[in-house]
Amino acid sequence: MSQIQWTQQTWNPILGCTQIIGNSQELSGCLHCYAMRQAYRNQAMGLRGYQGVVKKLSFGAIVWTGKVNLVPEALLKPLQRLKPTTWFVNSMSDLFHESVSFEMIDLIFGIMALSQQHTFQVLTKRPERMLEWFEQTHRDDWCNALVHYAWSGVSKFVNGTTNLDVAIRNPGFPLPNVWLGVSVESQFAADERIPLLLETPAALRFLSCEPLLESIDLTTVRCLNGGLTQPGVDFNPGQPLGTFDALSAGISWGIVGGESGYNARHCCVEWIRHLVGQFKTAGIPVFVKQLGTSWAKSSGTYRYHSKCGAPDVWPEDLQIREFPSRERSHARAAEFI
Ligand code: SF4
Repeated sequence: MSQIQWTQQTWNPILGCTQIIGNSQELSGCLHCYAMRQAYRNQAMGLRGYQGVVKKLSFGAIVWTGKVNLVPEALLKPLQRLKPTTWFVNSMSDLFHESVSFEMIDLIFGIMALSQQHTFQVLTKRPERMLEWFEQTHRDDWCNALVHYAWSGVSKFVNGTTNLDVAIRNPGFPLPNVWLGVSVESQFAADERIPLLLETPAALRFLSCEPLLESIDLTTVRCLNGGLTQPGVDFNPGQPLGTFDALSAGISWGIVGGESGYNARHCCVEWIRHLVGQFKTAGIPVFVKQLGTSWAKSSGTYRYHSKCGAPDVWPEDLQIREFPSRERSHARAAEFI
């Protein structure tokens, strides 16, 4: 069981990443990356797959090196588990990191296509690369990657390459069991990433507004990376000029949470309430993960739960932990077939 409450298991076939700091440290969701610190501990313990992905600088700071490793022994995990499970893909990396080759992404999507009993949650801060991959990928490439990198393991689950080809194509496209999401920790991140997510074919799209670093309005999102071409996304005449309502444009789930950790940045409960209200008004399920360490300290609940992740101490109106239905993503995928 994962400690991340909005999933059941984490699946880490790829390890390693790079922080995206941009022009504002204050509003970077990567600044206090928990995965980087965890990777350093795992590397020190000699766990497989972590070699070379993190290093300690002379003044003591830990940083990703930019190297990413494929972990062959982790790759087959979903195939080996028959019990339907929700998996968070790559909690220790970003599947669309620039060092993860398109062939590796083909491989991961091939495994997800073969694991229709499961649901996969893919969350990225690099939707531009995700879109680029979606625009050029073919299911033949997924088969080739599986045969090339994992055939000795995969062949136990499919009898021959013809069966593999059928099994990969059967679920349709986009895969009904794969949810795509982007991190939205600031208004800039919303403006930069949501339009790209909406351009990407997905059975279900979600937003992870964590760590929430400022108040965000999802009903007035700008297209920082150009216009949207997806049919059905409209620039609402009632909106401020050049903005659109992302919550009426194909988003099906929201996660909201404040930052945790010893140096966590402040998260105002009103920012969380404001976002929850937007999802509720749009009729979209929302999952409040935690109110964050800063709120835990100020509310005197730190000793009970350091990240304020126990809903029983929250204001009643924020005690919401909803999920989208699996049926909803299957129905959405059917529209594309
Ligand atoms: S993208 Fe995710 S894993 Fe990578 S540095 Fe940022 S927070 Fe960490």
